Amino acid sequence: MTMLAAAATAAIMTIGLAACGGAGTSGGGSSEKIAVVASINQWGSVAEALGGDKVDVKSIMASTNVEAHDYEPTTSDVAAFAKAQVAVVNGADYDSWASKATEGTKADVVNAAETDGIKEGDNPHVWFSHDVREKTADAITAAYEKAMPDQKDYFEQRHKAWEAQEQKVEDKIKAAESKTKGVPYAASESVAWYLADDLGMTDATTSGYKNASANESEPSPADIKQFSDALKAGKMKVFVLNTQESNDTTEHLEAAAAEGDVPVVKLTEQMPKEYTNLTDWMSALVDDFTGAVK
Ligand SMILES: [Zn+2]
Repeated sequence: MTMLAAAATAAIMTIGLAACGGAGTSGGGSSEKIAVVASINQWGSVAEALGGDKVDVKSIMASTNVEAHDYEPTTSDVAAFAKAQVAVVNGADYDSWASKATEGTKADVVNAAETDGIKEGDNPHVWFSHDVREKTADAITAAYEKAMPDQKDYFEQRHKAWEAQEQKVEDKIKAAESKTKGVPYAASESVAWYLADDLGMTDATTSGYKNASANESEPSPADIKQFSDALKAGKMKVFVLNTQESNDTTEHLEAAAAEGDVPVVKLTEQMPKEYTNLTDWMSALVDDFTGAVK
C-alpha cells in the first residue's frame, strides 16, 4: 500500500467512525434506530406504536392548524424523506407531495390508502377506516422487519399490543352499531366518512353540496341553502363539522344545525395534540358519534 492510499484509508476510517458515533442513538447497543418519516401524524403515531424504541419517527403534518388538503412542504420536509428508511404516506392524493418526495429515495414506502385498494379520486381520509388501519399497521410492521430482521420478535410483540388496542376500537364500534346503524348524518366535509360507515350510519348530506365538496369546489348558494334547510328541518340526526377546514359556509351550516336541534360532532383532519395514538383518538370519536345520536 502506498503512503497516499494508506492516508486515504485512514481518512475514510476516521470518517466512518465519526459517522457511527454521530448516528449513535440513546438506545445504544448493536442496533441503531430505523429512520421513519410519516407525512401526517395519524400514521406517524401508528409507526411509533409499532416501532417502540427501535424507531425514530418524524411526522410532517402534526398540527390541526395546517392546510390539510393544500399543504406546501418545506425544503426540510422533503429532505426528511430522502433520509428515511421507512416512509409512511397516506395516499389517495391526500399528500401527493409526500409520495413525490419519496421518489428516487431508498425509503421503503408504505402507502396507507393503497393497502386497501383506495385510489386517487376516492375519499382520502382513510385513517378513519378500521380496515385501512389494520392493513397499514401490517405493512409498517413488515417494513420494520425487513429493515431490522434481527428484531422480528420485538416488532411482532409490538404489533400484537397495537392489535389489542385496535380491537378495542372495533369492539366499541360493534357495540355502538345498535344505536348508530342507519342513522342519517350530514357533514361539512366527508372527513369521517369511513368511521360513520363503520358505524353503519347513512350519509344524508345533500347531493349538490356533497359533490362540490368532494371535488374541492365551492358549493353554489342553492346547494348551501338546500343543505341548511335540511339541517334546520332536523332531517339529519348528526352534523359532522371539520373544524380544520372551517369557513363562512361551514359556520352558516353549524348555525342551521343549531336551529334544527341537530347535535354537532366536531373533529379535525390531523390528530389533536391531546392524543398520542390513533386508536385512542378513534375510540374518543366513536364515543362522540354514539353520544350525539339521540
Ligand atoms: Zn379533508
